[in-house]
Amino acid sequence: MQANTARADRIAQRSRSENWKKPPRRIESSECITCDTCLRNCPPEFGAIFDRGLDVVIIPELCSGCPKCVLVCPVDCIYVDEEWTPTGDQMWSHIELTTGDPA
Ligand code: SF4
Ligand code: SF4
Repeated sequence: MQANTARADRIAQRSRSENWKKPPRRIESSECITCDTCLRNCPPEFGAIFDRGLDVVIIPELCSGCPKCVLVCPVDCIYVDEEWTPTGDQMWSHIELTTGDPA
């Protein structure tokens, strides 16, 4: 419950937790086979991975760098992203629409 609230706060503020020491991860789209295995394994308290249809992306502001997705990706295409760039408004709008908490 508290963890989901924290995620909702990160979405509302569009910012990464200052407590996260690890950099976020990024998916190299030219190598990704869009199998969604990473998406299914990203812990719900982070919920950082989204399938946009044509590609699968990690939202750096939601990614703790834990790195469960890296351990399950069949093609090893998830990399450390030290120089991540902030997520754009269009993607945030999509996230806000898809993260309504029905519970
Ligand atoms: S590193 Fe962890 S939090 Fe980040 S996308 Fe992968 S599974 Fe999710
Ligand atoms: S597990 Fe790897 S190949 Fe599959 S969607 Fe995620 S990044 Fe792409």
